[in-house]
Amino acid sequence: MQIKADLHTHTVASTHAYSTVAELAAAAAETGVELLGITDHGIGSPDAPHRWHFHNYKVLPRRIGSVWLLKGVEANIMDEDGVLDMNEKELSFCEWVIASYHTACVTFDRTPELVLRGYRGVCENPLVDVIGHPTTAMFPFDYEAGVKLFKASGKLVEMNESSLQWKPGALENARVFYRLCRDYAVPLVVNTDSHYAGQVGKTPIAEQLLEELCYPQELIVNLDAERVMKLAHEKRGIVFA
Ligand SMILES: [Zn+2]
Ligand SMILES: [Zn+2]
Repeated sequence: MQIKADLHTHTVASTHAYSTVAELAAAAAETGVELLGITDHGIGSPDAPHRWHFHNYKVLPRRIGSVWLLKGVEANIMDEDGVLDMNEKELSFCEWVIASYHTACVTFDRTPELVLRGYRGVCENPLVDVIGHPTTAMFPFDYEAGVKLFKASGKLVEMNESSLQWKPGALENARVFYRLCRDYAVPLVVNTDSHYAGQVGKTPIAEQLLEELCYPQELIVNLDAERVMKLAHEKRGIVFA
C-alpha cells in the first residue's frame, strides 16, 4: 500500500518537528507521494507557529518539483464544546483542516462524555475536513457513538501512523475503533503525521492494521491523490495547475 496523498505533516514551524517544506516535498517525491499536506499546529499549541505562518501561505507554490502542495493546519480542539484555536478568519487561509485533541491544549476533565461532546461541536464546524488521530488513550470516548457521528457529519477520519507508533494504547484502541469504522463504512485518510522528512509517505503499521481489518480500499480516500484534489477543489475552489 502506498498513500498518494500524505495529508498530515509538520515542518520546522512546529518546534518539535525537524524538516522544512522543501525537505518534506523532496521526501514525498522519493516515496511516491503526489500531494503533500503541510499541517503545522494551530496557534493554541505551545509549539505553534505565529498566526502569520498561515496568513502568508500565498507565498508557497502550488507545486514543488513533482509534488502538489496543500497548505493546511492541524487545529487544536480547545474545550468540551469543540471550539478550535483557529477562528473562521484564521481558517480561511488554510486549504485543509484537521481537528485534533492534544493534552497541552485542554483543561477540561477528559471524561468520555465530554470528549464526545467536543467532537460533536467539531462536527458542526463546516471548515473542518478531518478528525485527527482519534484513538489516543488520553481522550477516551464511546467509539460507536463517535463513529456514527463522524459518518453522519461527513468528516473524514484519520488513521495516524505516528500516533499508532508512539502513543501508548493508540494501536490497541485502533483495533476496536477502525473495526467500527469499517462496519459503518467510514471513509478514512491514512496519514504519517511526519515530524521529520524521513517519515513522509511511510505507513507500515496502518497498512498492517487495515489488512487485518480487510478495510475496503475504496474507503481509503488518499490512496488516490486526485480524489483528494477533487475534494479540495469542490470545497475551497483550489486549482491544481
Ligand atoms: Zn496531533
Ligand atoms: Zn500532527
